[in-house]
Amino acid sequence: MAISHNALMGAKESIEIAAKMLQLAIDEAEGFEKVPQGGGDYDPPIPVPEPEPEPMPEPEPVAPGLPAGYLAKNFKLSEFRCKCGGKGCNGYNGLSEAQAAAATKPLAELLQKGRDEINRRHPLGGGKERAVNIVSGYRCAYENKKVSGEASSRHVTGIAADVSTPGIDTGALWDELNPNGGVGYGGKNCPHVDTRGYRSRWKY
Ligand SMILES: [Zn+2]
Ligand SMILES: [Zn+2]
Repeated sequence: MAISHNALMGAKESIEIAAKMLQLAIDEAEGFEKVPQGGGDYDPPIPVPEPEPEPMPEPEPVAPGLPAGYLAKNFKLSEFRCKCGGKGCNGYNGLSEAQAAAATKPLAELLQKGRDEINRRHPLGGGKERAVNIVSGYRCAYENKKVSGEASSRHVTGIAADVSTPGIDTGALWDELNPNGGVGYGGKNCPHVDTRGYRSRWKY
């Protein structure tokens, strides 16, 4: 008996479909063997632990013999940060902390000398000490413009600070202690002190 060509082709297609379904069933069965449902010898995958974050390096002390971040006994580098709040600079007018520490250290040492002298001359007693507050330290162009400072101001390089010690007029003291630097006598008991390397005096 003759089988038509069409019938043969139909049978071939059916066998191919059946083979594909069989393969799918085999794949599925193997899959179930690899991941059995509930119990058995199956070990759940061990979660890969997140890599431990690298420990933050201890910040280097900015002055040897002092706690980290200090330029002098009572003065931290951060006290000299620009007041722009990040609007114009990183706090040190573009300098790295290490660069800023190097630039500002002589000023901080001068201010420490002044602070010690203020407390010697005007003791508060009771273990309390008068502070020398940094009203303005670093200034970037943005901040300098805001306070109408001169573009050539020593504040832009971190060697100047406007300082206040409540209740004490310290202008004469800074004049005395800073013979080779700048002292500006501020109207609001807030003298400008800088370590420019030569004597300069003015009123502002
Ligand atoms: Zn700034
Ligand atoms: Zn100033």
